Amino acid sequence: MFTHWLADRTRLFDASGIRKVFDLGAKLKNPINLSIGQPDFEPPDEVRRAAIEAIQSGKNGYALTQGIPQLREKLHARIKQEYAHADRELFVTSGTSGGLMLALMVLINPGDEVIIFDPYFVMYDALVKVVGGKVVPIDTYPDFKIDLDRMANAITPRTKIILFNSPANPTGAVADEETVRGLAELAAQRNVVLLSDEIYRAFCYDGPFISPTKFNEQTLVIDGFSKTYGIPGWRLGFAHGPSAVIHEMIKLQQFSFVCAPHPFQWAGAAALDVDMGRQIESYRRKRDMIVAGLADDYELVAPGGAFYAFPKLPWGTGMEFVGRAIEEYQLLVIPGSVFSRRDTHFRISYAAPDKVIQRGIEALKKLARP
Ligand code: PMP
Repeated sequence: MFTHWLADRTRLFDASGIRKVFDLGAKLKNPINLSIGQPDFEPPDEVRRAAIEAIQSGKNGYALTQGIPQLREKLHARIKQEYAHADRELFVTSGTSGGLMLALMVLINPGDEVIIFDPYFVMYDALVKVVGGKVVPIDTYPDFKIDLDRMANAITPRTKIILFNSPANPTGAVADEETVRGLAELAAQRNVVLLSDEIYRAFCYDGPFISPTKFNEQTLVIDGFSKTYGIPGWRLGFAHGPSAVIHEMIKLQQFSFVCAPHPFQWAGAAALDVDMGRQIESYRRKRDMIVAGLADDYELVAPGGAFYAFPKLPWGTGMEFVGRAIEEYQLLVIPGSVFSRRDTHFRISYAAPDKVIQRGIEALKKLARP
């Protein structure tokens, strides 16, 4: 009923793959849940206190569209120290997702092409279509490394954006410095916007995080607090890049999101002083647990960051495998086809207590040998 009211925009993608898993999972009493894309740790005390204090001291009205100066200036100082670019502007967004939406809205004309790396974060495919863009996926199987020649060949006169995400969802892949530099230089040479989603930058386990911004002054970065500080429900992010683009994004934010949640911006400012090293270290250990635990039974490219692993399916389609995982072991993982044109892998999130990861590994080992 009333589906005839709907615009064409949202018909171009569907969210049924993930929903199916969540619907099945909701019925389980004691699931082994390795499907969730958010940290299992609570936000640090001082961050929670700052949020409560902000609400109690009346920081409940609208904030400035571009963000409260107390947060924006702190972020700006960090970015300045990192890059020292003359034309790098910054503002506060409603999550990284809010920044992504605004970036695509202000950059994409109908028919413009956006290169994404397959497997990709689900939102990329959907949002590019929503704004009338054309998704150009570049396959990165089997090692999830970006092939720069392939990349160069995919660029056409209609290419507007290369959307890059390292550490990546859903693979946990971290691009090496040579690749990041090559990508950054290529985007600059070909006059294509490099949009870098850096939401997992704190979760790099085998070396320092490297942004393409280091090699390409025009890189547009979206980033956020959700994962690093365990506050995905607070909807806090930021974007920085060339001032002309950032100013247009702020203009659209004024007429859409209005501002990022005001009290949580105060908490965000407090969060920037908190060291999350302990939490990151514990996630490195969880990564090691998964890699070691699955080594004998799965083909898995060891992930260098984020909190995902993306092993190859040992048999069947993604839905068959995930269906049996749920039925027989109450184990929740996501079929790879949700993130990809291929249906050959599945995503594990190890953002879970060690006991749950251990139970997940046991179940996966049995599942691999049906
Ligand atoms: N980018 C990537 C790659 C993600 O995995 C996520 C969250 N799953 C987001 C962006 C969105 O994060 P948020 O809007 O909570 O900042």
